[in-house]
Parts: sequence; structure tokens; C-alpha cells
Amino acid sequence: MTIGESIGLDDLPLRADLRGASPYGAPQLDVPVRLNTNENPYPPPPALVADVTEAVTGAAAELHRYPDRDAIALRADLASYLTSATGVPLGVPNLWAANGSNEVLQQILQAFGGPGRTALGFEPSYSMHPIIAAGTRTEWAPTPRRPDFTLDTARAADILARRRPDVAFVTSPNNPTGGSLPLAELRELIAAAPGLVVVDEAYAEFSSRPSAVGLIGEFPARLIVSRTMSKAFAFAGGRLGYLAAAPAVVDALQLVRLPYHLSTLTQAAARAALRHAEETLHSVHVLSSERDRVMESLRGLGFDVVHSDANFVLFGRFTDARTTWQSYLDHGVLIRDVGIPAHLRVTIGTPAENDAFLAASEEIVR
Ligand code: PMP
Repeated sequence: MTIGESIGLDDLPLRADLRGASPYGAPQLDVPVRLNTNENPYPPPPALVADVTEAVTGAAAELHRYPDRDAIALRADLASYLTSATGVPLGVPNLWAANGSNEVLQQILQAFGGPGRTALGFEPSYSMHPIIAAGTRTEWAPTPRRPDFTLDTARAADILARRRPDVAFVTSPNNPTGGSLPLAELRELIAAAPGLVVVDEAYAEFSSRPSAVGLIGEFPARLIVSRTMSKAFAFAGGRLGYLAAAPAVVDALQLVRLPYHLSTLTQAAARAALRHAEETLHSVHVLSSERDRVMESLRGLGFDVVHSDANFVLFGRFTDARTTWQSYLDHGVLIRDVGIPAHLRVTIGTPAENDAFLAASEEIVR
């Protein structure tokens, strides 16, 4: 018997608005083919592992001291990566980093959302946005996409202008549907929004469209672009997310961030991983062409496939998505039921993993 096991949530003075809520999280099952959390399937190359090990060993000798609270060296490295990726000249004052982009998004809502304020999202989209809104007591305003999951930009701009949310989330490429927005449409949305627009670019490296980072100069008081090293960078376990914005946005986030939130070890490991960006990001080309192959094969098998610009594909249509998800699991393939009726989402894996997924799909469709 575990000490304290006799009490439940009802015995605790939990906030009323959190009662009955479920924690976010996909099942972490030990299955041969795991294609459910949009990670990069390629482990870090040996040279990166060696570099991270050396960097962490060096950092370990300093663990009696708190880390650099402002993570200056890491932010400089992120600025130089993002500048080279987007062509937009960015400096340390434009960058902010935290433990995954989830923490970045939480800090944004701590500073710019909260009681009496509203955040809006175009759904279906990343399901953590409303959960972070709930945790920060920001009212959530869900706004539907078209039935084919694309965004009607003119209508969305109109809604932003009329509803005036304090923060609007635009995910591009969108998770879990995969589509991305051209720069002109992002501009139209930001121009219409009286509040802040957070463009969540967790999957930007997989997309052929230009980054919203190019619009920060035009909309310094309105635009935040969030990014992560969890996907293309194959650094999900390292927990490093970041954003690019005007320096004043970064100053605002300092008011809510916990001191020393990024450990010495995280900062050292992320900097080492960034030194290998070119090698790691090579996998993006392989994954993008595998994504195109998976989309085409699924279409060939008769599935409905939502066009994706990311490292995952939403597909259907199933009479019962939950039962079909279980059939994949019975074939040793773990994919994701994201709660969209008749659809499931598969993350692009290695060619062998994708073959296993497609072989299972062929049997399931019969
Ligand atoms: N944004 C989107 C759209 C995502 O899909 C994810 C990860 N699933 C995140 C943010 C958060 O990722 P992380 O905290 O690992 O950076």
C-alpha cells in the first residue's frame, strides 16, 4: 500500500475548473513501430552524441552554480540558426527559449492571457493550446476550420477583428491536419488581429513555405513565432523550445518565467545539438519525401488523405477511428487517435517503419 493512497482528487482543494479534466498525453506503449508523437525517427548521429556528452561533462563540473538565467549563449546560437534558416537578421534580444515550446506557449499565456482575457484557436489544431489556456485561466475561443481542415483566411481575419482575442494561435503547418499557410495569408490574419498572434511553427522545417519570422519586422507588437527542437532537430528528449519576436515580447516573458528554468545541462546539450544542425536537418529531406510516398500509397489504397506539409499525415475515413487505431496496434503499429471523427494520424518514420505501417494499412483496408 502506498502512503496516502486512500484519498482521491475529490479530497483535495483542486480548482473547480480543473475538476474532471484529463491530463494531455498519448499512450507511451512498447510497440515495434511507434508513429504517434511526431518525433524524428532517426536517433542523433554519433558525432552529436559525443559532442553532447562532452558538453554535459563540462557543464557537470559547474552544477553547484545556478545556470545562466538569461541563456545568452544558447539564444545567440538559436538566433544564428534561425537567421540562416529564414534569412531574417535576428539577435539575442529577439530570441527566448524554454523547456519545450509548450513552456514557451505557457509563458506567453501567463504574460498575455489570464483571467478576463481570451485566446482563440482554429480547430482542429494542437490540443495543448486550449489546455495551456485552461491552466492559465485564459478563456478559450475555439473557431472551426473548413470541413476539409483548411483555413478560410478571409473569414478567420473577420473573426479576429470582431472577437478581438488577446492572443490568437495559428499553427502552420497545423497539427494534426498537416496543412500550412502562405505568408500572404498569415499577413492578412496578423493585420486583422488587434491582439497578439502566435504562429506555432513546431513543424516549420518540414514545410516548403517561408516562415512567419519574415513578418516580425512588419508587426513587431503583434507577432510571436514559436519553434521547437523536438521535431526536425531530433531533440524531443532534450526539451528545448524557443520563440522569435520583438525584444519587448522577450522582456514581457521575463516577468513570468521561473528563474533558472533552463538547466545548465539543457543549455549545454542544446548548444551542442545546434552545432550539428546541418547533419540532423538532413533527415528532413528524407522524411519529407517519405511523407509524400506515404500520402500517395495511402491514396492508392483508397484512403482519404489530408495534404500534409509536416512529418505526419491525417487520414481516414473510418467508421470507428478507435477500433481502427486498435487494429493498427494489433499489427504492432502505434499511431494516434487525435479525436477527429473518422480519422487517424500517422507520424512519418524510417522507410522500414513506413513500410510496416503501409503493410498494416493494406490489411486493415481489406
Ligand atoms: N506545437 C505543436 C503544434 C506541437 O505539435 C507540439 C508537439 N506535439 C508542440 C508545440 C510542443 O512541442 P515541444 O514542447 O516538444 O516543443
